[in-house]
Amino acid sequence: MAEPGLIADPACAAQTPADAAAQAEAEADAGFMAQALALAQEAALLGEVPVGALVVGADGAVLGRGFNRTIIDHDPTAHAEVVALRAAAAQLRNYRLPGLTLYVTLEPCVMCIGAMLHARLARIVYGAHDPKTGACGSVLDVGAVAQLNHHTSITGGVLAEPCGELLRDFFRQRRQKVSRESRA
Ligand code: ZN
Repeated sequence: MAEPGLIADPACAAQTPADAAAQAEAEADAGFMAQALALAQEAALLGEVPVGALVVGADGAVLGRGFNRTIIDHDPTAHAEVVALRAAAAQLRNYRLPGLTLYVTLEPCVMCIGAMLHARLARIVYGAHDPKTGACGSVLDVGAVAQLNHHTSITGGVLAEPCGELLRDFFRQRRQKVSRESRA
């Protein structure tokens, strides 16, 4: 039998509706980020830097998918986010994507955050922070500039560890390959 004193303790009170909503959103974010991570793995298999992205509607439908394909497409703009945005915009036949969320495994760069603000997404959710080119707080914080961003909220660090580990593995293997080739 539970102790009455514990039940009465406010610290043990049931979750508030706001807590429950936040927890449900965090669980949904992790699920979509896992899908973006699977797309990033496809990029790695093609020798591309492994970053994956997903555009999701308010009802949870996936409307666009992308992974980094700059090398195979000979396209400096073919980052995962841009590929996924183009797919979603084509599907909806609309250059604006209000109400939609983009998930990406790595903190967006300046180009991608610019494209995503133009799209007027509701949310951007990213995985690992990028201390080299991240434009959501690591190097620059473009989304925080009120004159530029009227529409989009940004959440970082979702599944940051596996998203970052995939990138670290990729670059580790690439360095080993280069050093093997230079010895051969
Ligand atoms: Zn980018």
